[in-house]
Amino acid sequence: MAAEIVLELRAVERHYEQGQRKLTILNGVDFTLSKGEMVALVAPSGTGKSTLLHTAGLLERPDGGDVILGGRACGRLSDDDRTAIRRNDIGFVYQFHHLLPEFSAVENIMMPQMVKGLRADEARARAMQLLDYMQIAKRADHRPAELSGGEQQRVAIARAVANAPLVLLADEPTGNLDPTTAHYVFDALSALVRQSGLAALIATHNHDLAARMDRRVTISDGHVVPL
Ligand code: ADP
Ligand code: MG
Repeated sequence: MAAEIVLELRAVERHYEQGQRKLTILNGVDFTLSKGEMVALVAPSGTGKSTLLHTAGLLERPDGGDVILGGRACGRLSDDDRTAIRRNDIGFVYQFHHLLPEFSAVENIMMPQMVKGLRADEARARAMQLLDYMQIAKRADHRPAELSGGEQQRVAIARAVANAPLVLLADEPTGNLDPTTAHYVFDALSALVRQSGLAALIATHNHDLAARMDRRVTISDGHVVPL
C-alpha cells in the first residue's frame, strides 16, 4: 500500500502586486508529502521557498488551487478554522527561533499544548520528554537568551511538534547555525521525524543535509520539481 498522503498542494498559485506589476511566485504548484517522509526544498533565495511553506502551513492563502491537509481542503476555510488546523496539525520552524523570551525552554514547549487545552502537568511532562529527546533536558529552565543557537533551535523544533502535528514545515531551520551545530540539530530533528512518523518539508541551503533526506525538490518557474 502506498504511504498515506498528509499534505497535498494542488495547482497552488501565489502572486504579489509589485506596483503595477503582478509578480507570480507559485504558478500552479503540485506537490504531495506522505507520512514518514522528509523532503528537502532546495532553491536559491527569492524563488519562493518561504511563500510555499507559508502557504502549505496555512499562514498565507493560495490565490489559486488548494492546500489539502489530512484529506481536508483548507484554502477557503475561515481564518478561525485555519488557525485551529495550524494549532493541531502543523508544526512550523523558522530560521530564527521565535521563542518567547520571558519564558523558559520547557514553558515555551508547554504553551501550544495548553492553548490546545492540556493541563499544565500533562503539558510539562510532554515538554520534558521532548527536551530529553532533543538532548537538552538540562536546559529546561533556561530562557532563550541563556541558550546557544543550536539549543534555541532544538527548543523551537520541540515546540513545533508539541501537539503531535501531521506535518512539520521548517524554513531554513539551521540557516543561522555553524555547520557542525547544524548537523547536530538536524540529527535531532530527523530522529524526531523518524520516531514519530511525522512528515516534514524542510527548506535548506545545506546540500549535505538535503542529501540525507528522502528526496529533494526545487522551485523552477513557479513549479515544484524534483531535484
Ligand atoms: P525565498 O524564501 O525562496 O527566499 P520568498 O518566498 O521569501 O523566497 O520570496 C519569493 C519572492 O516573492 C521574492 O522575490 C520576494 O521579494 C517576493 N515577495 C515575498 N513576499 C512578498 C510580499 N509580501 N510582497 C511582494 N513581494 C513579496
Ligand atoms: Mg525564505
